[in-house]
Amino acid sequence: MSAEHELEVLNPATEEVVATVPAADAADVDRAVARAAVAQRSWAAAAPADRARLLRRFADVVDTHIEELAQLEVREAGHLLGNARWEAGNARDLLLYAAGGAERLLGKQIPVPGGWNVTFQEPLGVVGVIAPWNFPMPIAAWGSFPALAAGNAVVLKPAETTPLTALRLAELALEAGLPEGLFQALPGYGHIAGRALVDHPDVAKIVFTGSTRTGREVMERCARLVKPVTLELGGKSPNIVFADADLKRAIDPFSFLDNSGQDCCARTRILVQESVYDEVRDLLADALSTVVVGDPADEQTQMGPLISRQQLDRVRSFVPEGAPALRGSAPDGPGFWFAPTVLTGERHDSAAACEEIFGPVAVLLPFTDEQDAVRLANDTPYGLAGSLWTRDLGRALRVSQAVRAGNLSVNSHSAVRYWTPFGGFKQSGVGRELGPDALAAFTETKNVFISTEGSAQ
Ligand code: NAD
Repeated sequence: MSAEHELEVLNPATEEVVATVPAADAADVDRAVARAAVAQRSWAAAAPADRARLLRRFADVVDTHIEELAQLEVREAGHLLGNARWEAGNARDLLLYAAGGAERLLGKQIPVPGGWNVTFQEPLGVVGVIAPWNFPMPIAAWGSFPALAAGNAVVLKPAETTPLTALRLAELALEAGLPEGLFQALPGYGHIAGRALVDHPDVAKIVFTGSTRTGREVMERCARLVKPVTLELGGKSPNIVFADADLKRAIDPFSFLDNSGQDCCARTRILVQESVYDEVRDLLADALSTVVVGDPADEQTQMGPLISRQQLDRVRSFVPEGAPALRGSAPDGPGFWFAPTVLTGERHDSAAACEEIFGPVAVLLPFTDEQDAVRLANDTPYGLAGSLWTRDLGRALRVSQAVRAGNLSVNSHSAVRYWTPFGGFKQSGVGRELGPDALAAFTETKNVFISTEGSAQ
């Protein structure tokens, strides 16, 4: 078989081959979309309570396979076992949350003269979900499950490096009784299967999570068919630390080390008020020295490997030998390891301070006052997330209004919750996922006017 017909899944902690999976081509995408279109028609016609019941059953089946899904995520993505269990639980919880939405997909009755006016939220049809490798299971779920609950079918294309949990979730959906073809996982290469899904005339919407570069291409191709998109793209999020903050909590290194820094919300620009810069640098140096990096299946481990050799090379390219930095440690030998690093000698416009590195690397930058902090925080084409730390309530409110990003945390580095909206400003994305309005992104609004005119008998 040629390399384009299969995907080799490696364990990033050992570089051993975990599995080899067939890679879909354009004809496979065609067949999957045709199957999905058939399944979608009867799914949309089913009573909302029946759709909800099946999705809840799917959640129950996921629940009984949490450990298996988590182990798969550890093997294919190098995630910590505890994180991977959380991720599988997140997929289950979102199924339950979205199931309730199927029964609450309400239209409006709008007063008009001469009749009644009502709106309907109708499903789009077949939705294509393209997922990245950094959180394979949750991101597949965020795009797919609200779409299913709103009456759509889903064809999910996982990332090349991490197809296994997506394939297993699709099997579990069948086991739970979801109709054949309704939720399909189709591993394949982005430039082949991903493009075929984007270009397919019977795919009504694309939900894409990945790099801003690929997202731009997806949006351009969708524009040719006037196909709606949700884009969840890159980030370079600030962690703004004012001098009056609880500094120890503010500089928690897992705000950028979680998932080895392969997190679109990682707070990788640590902006610190200059009067506490030295204190913060010393606290960070201590914190990095204690981070346990190693085998992700060991419950004592705090940070695992990067996903691939390619990602390791990319991360290394931002940290030249001898660059001024605070460093933790990482294992040698097989596996894609990089030590936790905070660069201390960067300018705010250097590559490391501006580009998304997607590894355990942050930059530490001083600011003078509130205005300067906001200016630096916003000096980026991205706008996904950010944290700000201060005990001054007025300042917390002003700064959270002034920072242009979709997901901010005040005195916290809170993670994404499935019941609150998530998405980016600027080049971090288009549209929102999750939260109470998640299903709306997978519907068209139809307005129907019913005349009451005529002669009264
Ligand atoms: P990527 O853009 O390389 O790939 C993402 C997905 O797109 C993969 O499934 C890939 O196969 C597919 N793809 C690649 N080329 C394609 C094409 N031409 N047409 C259609 N599909 C194509 O991104 P990645 O390296 O897998 O993921 C890392 C990126 O994802 C980072 O930039 C990160 O910030 C971003 N991300 C964003 C969010 C968010 O919610 N905003 C969440 C996680 C990751």
